[in-house]
This record gives sequence, structure tokens and C-alpha cells, in this order.
Amino acid sequence: MPVSKSSESTAPSANGTAHATGDRSSNGNGHNLDRLRPYEFHGVHLEQVSGKESIGDCPFCGKESKFSVNTETGLWRCFVCGSGSSSGGGNALPFIRLLYEQSVKLTPDGFIQSVAKARLLSGASVHAWGVTESADCSWLIPGYGTDGKLDQLYRRILGKLLPTPGVWSEGKAHGLHMVAGDFDPKRPVVVVCEGIWDGMALWEVERQTWGDANIIAVPGCNIWRDEWTEMCKGKIVTLLYDSDHPSGPNNSIAGWAGVHRVCRKLSGAAASVRVLKWGPDGYDPNKPSGWDIRDTLTSAADRRVALVEILSKIEDAPKDWFTSTKVSSGGHVNGNQTLDCSTWEQCETAWQSAIMLRQDLGDVIAVCLAICASTQQSGNQLFLDIIGSPGSAKTTICQGLLTSQNCIHLENMTKLISGYKKEGESDKDCSFLARANGKTWVTSEFDVLGSSPEYNQLMGKVRRIFDGETTATYGNSDEDRKYQGLRTPWIRAGTHKMMDRMADRDQSQLGDRFLRIIIGDPSQDEKRNITRSALRSERAAMLNQVSGVAGSIVDEKTQRAQGMTGGYVDWLRANIEELLSKLDVSESVEDYCMDLAELSADLRARPNEAKGNVDSHDTKEMPTRLARQNIRLASCLAVVLNKNEIDNEVLRIVRKVALDTANGHSLNITQWMCGLNARDPECKTHQECGGIGMETLAMWANMTPDRAHKYLMFMRKIGVVDWSQSTNRWLLTERVHELYTRIVRGVE
Ligand SMILES: [Zn+2]
Repeated sequence: MPVSKSSESTAPSANGTAHATGDRSSNGNGHNLDRLRPYEFHGVHLEQVSGKESIGDCPFCGKESKFSVNTETGLWRCFVCGSGSSSGGGNALPFIRLLYEQSVKLTPDGFIQSVAKARLLSGASVHAWGVTESADCSWLIPGYGTDGKLDQLYRRILGKLLPTPGVWSEGKAHGLHMVAGDFDPKRPVVVVCEGIWDGMALWEVERQTWGDANIIAVPGCNIWRDEWTEMCKGKIVTLLYDSDHPSGPNNSIAGWAGVHRVCRKLSGAAASVRVLKWGPDGYDPNKPSGWDIRDTLTSAADRRVALVEILSKIEDAPKDWFTSTKVSSGGHVNGNQTLDCSTWEQCETAWQSAIMLRQDLGDVIAVCLAICASTQQSGNQLFLDIIGSPGSAKTTICQGLLTSQNCIHLENMTKLISGYKKEGESDKDCSFLARANGKTWVTSEFDVLGSSPEYNQLMGKVRRIFDGETTATYGNSDEDRKYQGLRTPWIRAGTHKMMDRMADRDQSQLGDRFLRIIIGDPSQDEKRNITRSALRSERAAMLNQVSGVAGSIVDEKTQRAQGMTGGYVDWLRANIEELLSKLDVSESVEDYCMDLAELSADLRARPNEAKGNVDSHDTKEMPTRLARQNIRLASCLAVVLNKNEIDNEVLRIVRKVALDTANGHSLNITQWMCGLNARDPECKTHQECGGIGMETLAMWANMTPDRAHKYLMFMRKIGVVDWSQSTNRWLLTERVHELYTRIVRGVE
């Protein structure tokens, strides 16, 4: 496959981060041997002519001593033919691309046929997979990036295929084998073979068996790059590795172990993984070690019959190796894909056309995105409870987040429990925490999770893990990490009823970490519009089902909004650090966040009302953590809303979260005190009129006088209210009154 001139450049920036060539060894004269390796590997003999320059014969025009390589930069040029980039020459990447292009032109058909004969394959496949002959008669085999562009050139030396050294940095040396002209990253199915010859053997027999598939080959069972996981994101993947017998001191089974490793890497990324299992232990003891699919196919009288035999040995990857994250709460697979989205406006517009986007819902989406964006930063993490009535679109929003691979669905306790099986258990169950670290946990139906009998016990364990208190090791056999301080923000969505119940039951102290945002119930007018919009969605969904769109109960516009949300999460995750570094956080913003934290701490404190609370400790939390959470939320929100500074719009949302977090009797009492007294002729506030009597407060709060008394005594103890002997009424303390007034006025 010739490479077009335009795709060549002196720096392979289009192919990723690493610049060509390593810079590991030097011979002490400033003569960097590594820089010469790509050229010498392909038979260019270079001699040093000065401190910086080595000269050899040009592999492109053949002129003697005209091919020059700078030993410091690794850049080459030919003084005669000027091959390479428009200005001539380049680094190792255009060199191998040009070399390969030349070999394609010069390879005789006889060579292709002889390779095909030796491998029992057709000449057409050998040609399609790009095997060529080098000028010195060895085999050249192209390796490609996940964009289908050539970025590696293998050479067969002593029966082995070796990648050109020094083109890419350590760990990125390998490319994929494929039919470059027939590769399409959009295809839903990926079939992975071990080695190019297996790839060809499979490719040339009944390709359509696999549907709309990319058939690719990795260079070996121990080689897997992160980019390839990315390529398999959301795809249906089948792994067809060799049948290796146990060998070595550990009796390891190379092929099957490779399958296991790749499955774990694809876990949470691929939609599904199926594997070729040669025998009960992953290999076929009746065949020689190293038996592969090419052996099976080429040794059969009818290759299609042999293919059926291979297909019969393909099964779902073991559940504890691979878990898809794409299962939605309804039990159906949420095939929703992320869509490219890089601004708040795009995301908001998509939601506006999908649902009645009230301000509350817009705020919820923005806050959720801010939480997702905050995942990797150190320090206090953000946890969020979304509280709303059934049908308030909270699940729909959560499902939007979950289209992103940066979020992970925590829908029941089974996953968490399996994350804790360790002592005395096979360590294979511990992968959930490993996979979930660095992602935002999303629980779209918290009422189900919270009802679990093990809830409290598990929350205690989770809290210890978040705090890094646990010394237990949760990891996989080759990934023995200690989870000290997981980076996993958690978004839970539930109803008022459930959240109140949890607040009462929660003894883990983890609940205190959760900020809250409440989706207010819509007004009567809004309700009509919502119903109308829901009816429209329903009709669209029915039409979808009639036209056979698989099992989808989500209409197209909602799916689009969800995909945009996931896409925006991905974009935020990729850009947040840079954008945060550009953000100005003024002192007044810091002050405001501290005010909010102080008020939340005051109003969130609860008297211990459990029975027999003789020595209850009526304490309130220190506002430090809340202040940090507020600043973090404000900063991330500014980035989400594409602002250069934390402005009033951002602070309005942070205030909503702070007040929703404090939501309860204490907040109500504060708001009543600061509300206007209708009976006062000058329309002063209750506070200004000297406070409110206990009976009135008890009535408004729907409490018995006895309970109201205890509650107010508690509020007095922590310095929120005071009792005026002269008027016989309750008042806010001066501190809280000023604080609340500052907060309300701050954002107007
Ligand atoms: Zn030349």
C-alpha cells in the first residue's frame, strides 16, 4: 500500500506523542548510536564523518556516500535525490514509509508466490497483507497504527519478525498487521489473531463469517498496546490466540495467559469479548504446542469445515476476566455511543431538544459533568447525590454520563462485594476496584442499591478505601496494587424518600461526603410541557420498535443528548488539567466558598435523635472539607461552562448545591427567620422583628413541641440560633444571620 507524500512529515506528530528515535546510548563522542539504528537495521551502512554526521549509500537512489544522518537528531537526507519530505529527508518514520513504498514497487510476483507457497496461503492474501521483499532479499512486513497508517516496518531476520528499532520509544515499538486498504475503524467487530500468518489464513476463508469486521493481527501473544484497547472501545471483539502448552518454571500457558491479559485490558472498554478456547485449560494437549488457527485451516481438506471447528471452540470470555460496563438499569444493553462534544453549548442544546430542560435539570447536568471532570485531581474528591421525584429525568441524565468509558455503572452490591473478595478466595474477583479506579461511579437507581442489607457494612469499607486506611490489597495476579486513596467520585441518583432514609441509617460517615443537588418538582405549566414532550418521545420510541431498532426505549433526541454528554465527559477529562491551570480564582470567590461551607456545616449538623441517646455527641463537622469541595466544584463548573473565571452564574450553582446539601429543618428555620414578616407594617424580616416563637416554629416544621424544643436547643448549642429572654422568641445568632445574608446577596 503506497504511502502518499502528504502523509509524510519530519515529525510523526499525527501518529502520537513520541518523536522518532530513542536517545538511550551514546558512544561517548556525542555520536548517538541509537539515532542510526533504524537506517542500519535496513542495511544502510553509515560511517561517521564528523561529530554530528554519518554518511552512507542512499537506499533510494543508490548514490554512494550521499545519504546523510545527523547523529544528534536522527534526521536523514540524500544530497542527490532529495527523497523524503518536501524539504528533503526526515526522521525514521518517513524513512521506513518511503522504504516500504519502494519495496512495494520492486517486489517481484515470484517472491509473493514463494512466500504464499511456504505458508500454505494464497498469493492474494500475502499481497493484501503487504508482505514485500527488501533490496537485500529479506522479507518486509508493515505494521500499522489504529488509524490504518503505516508506522512500523518489520524485517524477517533468522526466521523472526523484528520491528525497526528506534522509530518509536520503548513500549510503543509494535504495530498491527492488517489489510491497510480494507481497514475501517468504524466497523463494530474486531477479530484479533496472533501473528500475521494467522491473520491471513483467517482473512482468506469466509471473511463474511464475522460480519462487518476488521480482521487484524498482533505481533505476539505478549504484545498489547493501550491504543489497541482504545481501538476496541465499544466493539465486539474475538481473540484467536495460539494453543501453547504449559512451559517454563511456572508451567505458564503463553497463549491463554495472553488472552487473559487482553481480556482484562478490554474490560470496561469493549462491548463484549469472545475467546478461542482450544481445550479445558486453554490449549489442546493432542496438538503440538504452538498450534494455531493457520495450522487448523491449512491442514484441513476443506478450510470451511475447519473454520466451523474453530468457531465451535469460541466462547464468551470468562465473566471474571471481562465485564462489560454497558448494561443499563433496565437490563437491556445500552448501545448508546458517545458523540463528539467539546462545548457546554452543544451539550445543553442537545438536551434542550430532547427534554424540557428546566434550570434545575441544566444545573444537575453541569454539576454531574463537573464531578466527572474532577476525577483525577488529588485532594478531596467530590461525591454527589441527585435527589428528585420518580420521572424527574435523573436516570436519563445518568445514562448520558454512562455512555462515556470514563464513567462506570455501579448498579448493585454484587459488583462491590466481588471487589472485596480477597482473603482465602481466588484473587480473580478483585477486578472491579481495579477497573473502577480513575472513573466516576454512577448509580442511577440508588433506591435499589440503598435497600441492600449489606449497604452499611460495605459503605464503611468503601470509606476506608477512599481514605487510604485499608492495607488490604485489591488487585489482580499481575497487578498487585494497593488501593490507597481511590480516585473515584461517585454520583448517586435517588428519590427524596430514599435519601432521607439513608441519611438516618448511614453510620459509615461516608454519607457526609456527599454533596446534594435537588431537582425541584416542576410547576403546573412545566408539567404539561413535560407530559407533552414525554408523549412525543414515547411515539418516537414506538416507531423505532416498529422499524426494528433493537430494543431501544430511548428516543433518538435523548440518545443524541446522552451521547453528547458522554462525549463531553471524555473531552473534559482530556482537557481539564490544562483548563484549570488557566482559571483565575479570586479571593472573593474563595471567601464566598468558605461562607457557603460554614453555612452548610452549621445547617447540616443534626441532633442525635436515636432512642436512648444519653451521651449523644452533638457536634458539627469542620467546614474545611466543604470549603475545598466548594472551590473544586466551582472551578470544575467554570471549565464545564466554558468560562475563564468563576462568575456569578457558576457561584449560583455552587450555592444551590450548598443549600441543597444543607437541606432540612435547620435551613428552613434560617429561611423563615430571614423571610419577610407579613404582619409587620414595615415588611421587616422575622429576625428584624425579634424572632419567632417556639410554637409557631414547631407548627411550621410539623414537629411536636417537645421535639422542636430539643431541636432548637441543639441548634443553640452549635451556635446557629439563640433564645431571647426579653421577647421569649428564637432568633438566628448574629454570626449566622450575617452569613446567610452575605450568601443570599453574594450572587445577585
Ligand atoms: Zn538518494
